[in-house]
Amino acid sequence: MSSCLFSNVRLGEDTVDVRVSNGVIAKIASAKTLAALPGEDHIQDGWLTPPLAEPHCHLDAALLADRAPNHSGTLVEGIANWAAIAPSLTVQDVRDRALTTAKMYKSWGCLRIRSHVDTECPVAVEALVSLKPDLAELGMDLQLVAFPQRGILRAPGRQDAWRAAIDAGCDVVGAIPHYERTHDEGNASLKLAFDLAEARGLMVDVHCDETDDPSSRHLERMCAETIDRAMAGRVVAGHCTAMHSYPNPHAAKVVALVVESGVQIVTNPLDNSVLQGRYDNGPVRRGHTRVKALWAAGASVGIGHDSVQDPWYPLGTANLVDAAYVLVHYAQCSGLAEMERVFRTLWDENHRPFGGAPVLAEGKVATMCWWPQSDARMLLVHRPRPTIYIAGEVT
Ligand SMILES: [Zn+2]
Repeated sequence: MSSCLFSNVRLGEDTVDVRVSNGVIAKIASAKTLAALPGEDHIQDGWLTPPLAEPHCHLDAALLADRAPNHSGTLVEGIANWAAIAPSLTVQDVRDRALTTAKMYKSWGCLRIRSHVDTECPVAVEALVSLKPDLAELGMDLQLVAFPQRGILRAPGRQDAWRAAIDAGCDVVGAIPHYERTHDEGNASLKLAFDLAEARGLMVDVHCDETDDPSSRHLERMCAETIDRAMAGRVVAGHCTAMHSYPNPHAAKVVALVVESGVQIVTNPLDNSVLQGRYDNGPVRRGHTRVKALWAAGASVGIGHDSVQDPWYPLGTANLVDAAYVLVHYAQCSGLAEMERVFRTLWDENHRPFGGAPVLAEGKVATMCWWPQSDARMLLVHRPRPTIYIAGEVT
């Protein structure tokens, strides 16, 4: 095993020297106090962080933008185009695209991925479940959310397919309440999702209120279910864009419920920057969840890349720092401390669905990213590839 000395490197809030040997962090000392040993790799300056984590993506649909082009750019056409192409997909096709996408994530420093998988496409479920050992060999974790893209109550058979995806190996129960036929059926779908998760001891991750409609009010139901069932820390609500259009008094009530319940909000700035406001003639709303209000109240907010060149979003390279970069613009988080928080989210709050961020301390396994700058603003400016260490080895 190799040995490496990082001199004058940022770690957390400190600037220190870090020696890695035999795959673990052997020593952390004051900056510029450790000398390189003969034959030891020596890296100076920069920032050591845990690897990044992706809390929200769709590996089954990734890299389909050419085969299912979205001409209008709308969410509705994306869903229709995916539904049209999904029946023709094969296990091999889904595996190949998902593996390529996962390697793209890894190349940008991300080693944990939570992917939704459409439960109406059993081929996709089979492919992604079978991919877990492949990603483990790459040093990556893959969690799968049983995601009913077109709802579970809209048509016969969809609820059965959703349950079958859990039986087939999905780890997390998904739902899409705002896409069900009525508000009541949306809340009914949430009750079914929480019932299933509670019965199986699973987590919940819902595409929640991904609309500009201010009357889409499923997040408060999610919070209530989470409180009543004592499931704090096990529930994620993705998108929550309707919150942007809530009247302020109602938004304040919902934000407080999010904090009380321990539900994590995952915002997906790349997709929602192009998908929201499509029914507005002008002014066009940003249609983004209220990140600053959630932060101020003490809520946990994660940042997902979401789509990678798929029927909903034609761009993206699986670089989570790109998602952070767009969030800085989109949520107006361009203050220095705000940019620092946005960048840190990628390797702290984004690990929450996976049980928390790895700790970089003496005696811990040296699985981490080294960034060439120690300043979040400059990392957002240049968005460089980090050097990725898995158990002390460059990968
Ligand atoms: Zn999504």
